[in-house]
Amino acid sequence: MADEVAKAQTAQPGGDTIFGKIIRKEIISTMIYEDEQCVAIEDVNPAAKVHYLVIPKKQITQLSKAEETDEQLLGHLLLVAKKVAELGGLKEGYRVVINDGKDGAQSVYHLHLHVIGGRVMGWPPG
Ligand code: AMP
Repeated sequence: MADEVAKAQTAQPGGDTIFGKIIRKEIISTMIYEDEQCVAIEDVNPAAKVHYLVIPKKQITQLSKAEETDEQLLGHLLLVAKKVAELGGLKEGYRVVINDGKDGAQSVYHLHLHVIGGRVMGWPPG
């Protein structure tokens, strides 16, 4: 079992997370994009040549806890995913992933979109 998947089996929602600290710049990350609603950083443990995380500044723990009022923000995150994919030079395509909860192998309980590319992806995902 991959490390992140193993972590996800015991990760618990609630409280501040490593992404909160990154957003507040209390810990260092490779930030490639920031606006008033979100940041995008390089994943510390990349699953492909390019692996970015798009993270809303609002602390929504996971997609399944998002609310109707988050509609604009969720749309914005997808457009930022597209923007950073362009910045990363992913001309041949890429994958955007949101892991939700234990079965979705979510290890950090602050909503984030993975933007992964630079190789041909397999299907179905593991
Ligand atoms: P998930 O399993 O969907 O919750 O994804 C969490 C992701 O966060 C994993 O791909 C980790 O490699 C990544 N990650 C954890 N800590 C950091 C960090 N300090 N900086 C960048 N990425 C991180």
